[in-house]
Amino acid sequence: MLTNLQARDVATVLHPYSNLATLPSQGTLILERGQGVYVHDVEGKPYIEGMAGLWCNALGHGVEELVEAAAEQMRKLPFAHLFTGKSHDPAIALAEKLKELAPMKAAKVFFTSSGSEANDTQMKLVWYVNNALGRPQKKKIISRIKAYHGVTIASASLTGLPNNHIDFDLPLSSVRHAGCPHHWRFGHEGETEAEFSARLAAELDAQIEAEGPETVAAFIAEPVMGAGGVIVPPEGYFAAIQPILEKHDVMLISDEVICGFGRLGEWFGATKLGMKPDTVSVAKALTSSYIPLGAVIIPDWIDEALVAQSAKIGVFGHGFTYSGHPVAAAVGLKTLEIYERINILGHVTDITPHFQKRLKALGDHPGRRSPRSRACGAVEVVADKAAKRAFDPKTAVAAKVVAFAQDEGLIVRAIGDAVAVCPPLVITEAEIDELFDRLGRALDRGEEWVRKERSR
Ligand code: PMP
Repeated sequence: MLTNLQARDVATVLHPYSNLATLPSQGTLILERGQGVYVHDVEGKPYIEGMAGLWCNALGHGVEELVEAAAEQMRKLPFAHLFTGKSHDPAIALAEKLKELAPMKAAKVFFTSSGSEANDTQMKLVWYVNNALGRPQKKKIISRIKAYHGVTIASASLTGLPNNHIDFDLPLSSVRHAGCPHHWRFGHEGETEAEFSARLAAELDAQIEAEGPETVAAFIAEPVMGAGGVIVPPEGYFAAIQPILEKHDVMLISDEVICGFGRLGEWFGATKLGMKPDTVSVAKALTSSYIPLGAVIIPDWIDEALVAQSAKIGVFGHGFTYSGHPVAAAVGLKTLEIYERINILGHVTDITPHFQKRLKALGDHPGRRSPRSRACGAVEVVADKAAKRAFDPKTAVAAKVVAFAQDEGLIVRAIGDAVAVCPPLVITEAEIDELFDRLGRALDRGEEWVRKERSR
C-alpha cells in the first residue's frame, strides 16, 4: 500500500535507473533530511547511507560550511559564465586547485555539471584534437566491459553495461569494449591475478592491432570500476596495460568520477594504481555532491592542439551554460579546502583496513564472496561458490538483500548479484561496524529467503 506521497511520486516522476514496471507497486523510499552518514525518510526512520548517495556524498550530510559557501556565492554573483571572454573568480581558483592536485602535469580545466558531461567532453576532445593534429582516422575509443562512464550518447556508449545500450541504439560505432578485469569471474582456471592481467594486456594489444593502431585514439578506464560491481583490478593490471597503450600511441583517460578525491586514499585513483593518464574526468566528490559539478583536466599537448585549431578556425565550439557555474565552483573549492583541512586522505587510509576486514568477514561464507575492496566494495551472493555458478538473474537475490538492508536501516545498492557498499569517506570505525552488522543481518535474511524459495 503506497503512501500518498509515494503514489504522487510514481504517478509523476520518471525515475532514472529503475524498473519502471515494478516501481509503481513497490513504491519509493522518500528521504527528507540527513546528518553525517545518516539519512531520514519522511516517516522519520534513520538509515546509514551505505552508498554515499550515488558514490558521491564524501563528507556526509549537514556540512554547514558548504551551505554557507553556496549561499555566499549566490548572494554575490549567483550566475556568470565562461563563454566569449568572460570569467569569474571561483572558476579560476578551482581550476588552479585542480591543476595543482591533478595526477599528471595539467594545463587546463574544462568544467561540466556531471560525470557524463565530462566523459562526453572527453570523447569530443579526442575527436576534435585528432582532427586538429591531422590524423582524422584516429578516432576509436576503447572502454571495457562492465565500465560505467555515464548516460549521454557518448558516455553511455563508453559504458559497458547492456542496459545502457539495448534499445537506445548504442554504442556509437567508434566505441569498442575490451575485457573486464574481474579475476574471479573472467580469470581462467588456475590463472593467477598477474597472469590474468598479462592476458588482458595481450588481448588489448591484439584488439588494437586488429582495429589498426592508426584508428585507435584512446582507452578510458575507471581505476576501480564502480557501477559495474566495484571491481578492483587484478595485480599488475595497469602496469601491463600501460605499455600497450604507449606502443600504439593510444592516450589514457582516467575516469575519476568515483575514485577521485580520496576514495582510494589518494587524491586520484590513478596515483594509487600506478596509472599514467593523459587526461582525467572528475565529478561527484568534487563538491561532495552538494551541487552538480564535473570537470575534465587536460595536459599541455591537448591544450596546444586546441589553441592551434582556434587559430585556424576561430571559436572552440564546445561549452555548457553551466560550465564553471560560480555557485558550484565555490562549493567545489570549499569541499577541497575541507578535504585538506580534515586530512581526508589520511582518514580514508586509516579506516580502509577496518572496512576491508569487515567486508571480507561477510564474504567468508559458503554462499557469498567479497572480492578485494578499498574504501568501497561489494559482497556478491553466489548460488555455488566452488563452481562459480551465479543465481538465475530472475531470482534477484541481491535486490532482496538490499530490501532487507533497507528494513534494517541501511541503504546499499544491488548490481547484478553484488551488493555494493560505498559509504561517505568521513565514516568512523564505529559507524563501519554498525553498517556491516546491518548488512550481515540483511544477507542472512536474504539467504533464508532463498532457502524458503527453493523448498517451495
Ligand atoms: N563515470 C563514473 C565512473 C561514474 O561512476 C559515473 C556515475 N555513477 C559517471 C561517470 C557519470 O556521472 P553522472 O551520473 O554525474 O553523469
